[in-house]
Amino acid sequence: MSKHTTIDAKRWQDVTTRRKAADGTFFYAVTTTGVFCRPSCPARTAKRENVVFYENAADAEAAGFRPCQRCHPLAAVGRDPHTSLMRAMADYIDAHTGEALPLKRLAMEAGISPFHFQRTFKAVIGVSAKEYQAAARLRRFKEQLRKGDGVLAATYDAGYGSTSRVYEKVDGGLGMTPSAYRRGGAGETITYTVRETALGPLMMAATARGVCFVQFGESEEALRKQLSMEFPHAILEIASAGAKGPIDHWMAALEKHLAGSAPRPELPLDLRGTAFQIKVWRFLLSVRAGDVVSYSELAAGISAPRSVRAVASACGANRIAVLVPCHRALRADGSLGGYRWGLDRKRTLLDAERSKSHISY
Ligand SMILES: [Zn+2]
Repeated sequence: MSKHTTIDAKRWQDVTTRRKAADGTFFYAVTTTGVFCRPSCPARTAKRENVVFYENAADAEAAGFRPCQRCHPLAAVGRDPHTSLMRAMADYIDAHTGEALPLKRLAMEAGISPFHFQRTFKAVIGVSAKEYQAAARLRRFKEQLRKGDGVLAATYDAGYGSTSRVYEKVDGGLGMTPSAYRRGGAGETITYTVRETALGPLMMAATARGVCFVQFGESEEALRKQLSMEFPHAILEIASAGAKGPIDHWMAALEKHLAGSAPRPELPLDLRGTAFQIKVWRFLLSVRAGDVVSYSELAAGISAPRSVRAVASACGANRIAVLVPCHRALRADGSLGGYRWGLDRKRTLLDAERSKSHISY
């Protein structure tokens, strides 16, 4: 008897707190109304003395109760409470591939002990939660790639970007190593090209690995100075007119994008910065056109919720305008914050994206 009392007390607590994770593990019926509900039902909580618990929906129905019209208890139900709870937890993992999900957190969501969770998940799903998440990430990653997202965006989106260890593992598997943090570009040749755009002169520069510099400036000369300040030891070469190297194609794609006639091109990027900066920039790659993100959301997104100011300065240190969309990062109150290339340009870029966000980017 005392065991039942404990279980019922726990269930009653789940009902009063409307704990979603308890859905599927039991049902409660209200004798005064004749309906039965899932624990998370949003309806007003009944009086305790009018509530009866059932292991499954069939028992509640057999006792003459009707399914509630608000929470549709039959919709969420499998036959076995463990099965439906673990399936729900598998869905939960699928929906949170980008986060660290320690066993403790999963067990808490499910409302059972870590030990019990570990055992039940494996029994129902067939693999451990950890293995399931690894597979879910890979699934998500491939899905994003198939949808045409670039490798970097897909990588972040699938959750590999949030833990550098996993990231490197998978990145290596794709035959790319994350760009090392090299200072000054010693021994490298950087090719650049300049165009006149609606937002002023724009320079793009690239190493053998990819685009390392996209910036607006007042003149070609000022931009060239800026480039040599950022890569003081590199050999800088202007792309010869008519040579049609990769940088010309990349610049053409970027121009089309800026003119509003094409989505952001997925070009190879040579990101150089501290590990922290690179995390921030990778996160920015996952922010879609028409969307914005606050510095604090960004900080939370890279699992550094206390580093809002460091995140804002990493955005400010971005060298690759537009392609790494730091213009989509705003202050928490929605104000523009800063922009390395001037707030007018930031506003113009955002307005253009907002007006076109119905186009699928
Ligand atoms: Zn209900």
